[in-house]
Amino acid sequence: MDTYRAPIDAIRRAMRSVGLEDVLSMPAYAGVDAETIDAVLEGFGAVAADAISPTDQHGDEHPPTLDPASGRVQVPEIVAGAFAAYTSGGWNGLSAPAEFGGGGLPSVVSLAVHEMFGSANMALSLNPMLTQGATELIDRWGDERQRRVVVPRLVDGSWTGTMNLTEPDAGSDLGAVRTTATPTGDGRYLVNGTKIFITWGEHELTENIVHLVLARTPGGPEGTRGLSVYLVPKFAFADDGSLRERNRVWCRSLEHKLGIHGSPTCVMEFTDAVGELVGELNTGMGAMFTMMNLARLAVGVQGVSVGERSLQQALAYATERTQGRAVGARSSQAVAIVEHPDVRRSLADIQTTVDAGRLLTYATAIAIDVAAHAEDPEVRAAAQRRADLLTPLAKAWTTDQGVRMASAALQLHGGMGYVEETGIAQRYRDIRIAPIYEGTNAIQAIDLVSRKVVRDGGRALSELLEEIERSLESAGDVGLAAPPEFLSGLESAIRVVSDVTQWAIGSWEADPRAVLTGATAFLELVAVTTAGWLLLRQAVRERDPAARARCTARLRTFHAEHLDRCPSRSQIALGASSVDAALDLPGPLSR
Ligand SMILES: Cc1cc2nc3c(=O)[nH]c(=O)nc-3n(C[C@H](O)[C@H](O)[C@H](O)COP(=O)(O)OP(=O)(O)OC[C@H]3O[C@@H](n4cnc5c(N)ncnc54)[C@H](O)[C@@H]3O)c2cc1C
Repeated sequence: MDTYRAPIDAIRRAMRSVGLEDVLSMPAYAGVDAETIDAVLEGFGAVAADAISPTDQHGDEHPPTLDPASGRVQVPEIVAGAFAAYTSGGWNGLSAPAEFGGGGLPSVVSLAVHEMFGSANMALSLNPMLTQGATELIDRWGDERQRRVVVPRLVDGSWTGTMNLTEPDAGSDLGAVRTTATPTGDGRYLVNGTKIFITWGEHELTENIVHLVLARTPGGPEGTRGLSVYLVPKFAFADDGSLRERNRVWCRSLEHKLGIHGSPTCVMEFTDAVGELVGELNTGMGAMFTMMNLARLAVGVQGVSVGERSLQQALAYATERTQGRAVGARSSQAVAIVEHPDVRRSLADIQTTVDAGRLLTYATAIAIDVAAHAEDPEVRAAAQRRADLLTPLAKAWTTDQGVRMASAALQLHGGMGYVEETGIAQRYRDIRIAPIYEGTNAIQAIDLVSRKVVRDGGRALSELLEEIERSLESAGDVGLAAPPEFLSGLESAIRVVSDVTQWAIGSWEADPRAVLTGATAFLELVAVTTAGWLLLRQAVRERDPAARARCTARLRTFHAEHLDRCPSRSQIALGASSVDAALDLPGPLSR
């Protein structure tokens, strides 16, 4: 039986090790203490395990349905019940500002809640994930009326929000967006176009949906510079929030997908739909990045969510399934497969990688909190640089690892992993989307090397590497028996990252193709170095001897499974592989 238990202790330890106390010491969180956060984690952990997780398989087997005549999309009743348990418990607005009815808690707390939600039912968790992004976008960029009317309804969960970027010809390249927004002269716009792949674009879980739509005003600049964000509600609303007429935005079809079957992925058609501008004209990419950056981090944590649940399932299966004899045993008695050394190695790898991904994503959330609330402007600016640098790592590395972990957990189920009844196949199918949406992982790698490293002259990355070096120097002083191979592996990873960074900065002008050929490997190198450092810091800060011994053992595993591979990745990161010559392309490259 596949049941989920919220890993509260691991979550709490991870939060503390990445700097929760520093965040709580800021005046913005004066009223928040560690006990309140513990209560939130435990309270939501119980909801995730008892109310949400039992709906996961049902949602997978009974996807939402569209009635083409009415355009209505319906989800199974028990999934709707799980959503209601979530919103009625007040879990949706944990980190939203108190002035809008939110809990005013640090974002790392809502990220931890999102992690548990994603373990319990990833497809359903996408709905609040996008709603929280929409809340942040409107709070930061919206006008007074939009903030006053819309934000509290998104916070209390009576409305939801969507993100409408993708079109048939505009995926990774949003400059190709064709949807138009034409001014009507009374401050409103008529939006026309088709958006595809829109997550939770239509449903009846709430009374209204606000679509945040990237569109261009006719006659404006080409490319991304001519894009703006428009708020297009499913139902128009008055100043007091009461609903008016149905808007001309309709779900035309639902996608049939590999995984996350419980999430309706909609083709949305806008036909003279009435919308209002959010922010200034032609600032759409900046505004959308408010939502996308949060969503990228939240997608990153899905790798942890699914890794954690896959681990729990694999551990349970490995202790139940008997096969083969214990190594060196004379008895012919079959043993549980967890007795086999290679099964244990794989479980330890998954366990360690879940920890590493959790630390990386939570550290990103902490940087976001410090960037928003520290009193000293220099501290805020440094934290913003750190958050910007870590976001693509948290999104791409953690989701790639999520796929790898789900695959490893499936493998541990043998043939029973490939058939559906154990439930592990759903983990693998569900997590496969995470490296694709919210900017594919290749786009994250390009963002890292071009914007976050080359454009800033390597400043944010050098600050990070210097901090890692300081941790390495002091690791011995605190009496931590860190495995020597881990320490030297981390040292050499720092050197590799430094060398590749210098090369990328120096080569960018003359040979950007070579730098971009190495982008994915570069991201992996930086992520592994950062995650390894965060594991080391956690081990150093751990006071409980048993927990510290576990951390030390995980450093050894992390070295063997991740750090040790860094030198071999450096060649491709340096753009040294002859990819063009290696390919048999059907025709010449278009340049
Ligand atoms: C289930 C699901 C839910 C989604 N939800 C939403 C949503 O709610 N809202 C929304 O707006 N969109 C959503 N999307 C769309 C998603 O964000 C896009 O699919 C994604 O950004 C990739 O765009 P694309 O599919 O057009 O692929 P393409 O852009 O065509 O990419 C194809 C391949 O080429 C690579 N590639 C493209 N350009 C480059 C480049 N410059 N350098 C290197 N490699 C490149 C990509 O990495 C990828 O491997 C969703 C998609 C799915 C499948």
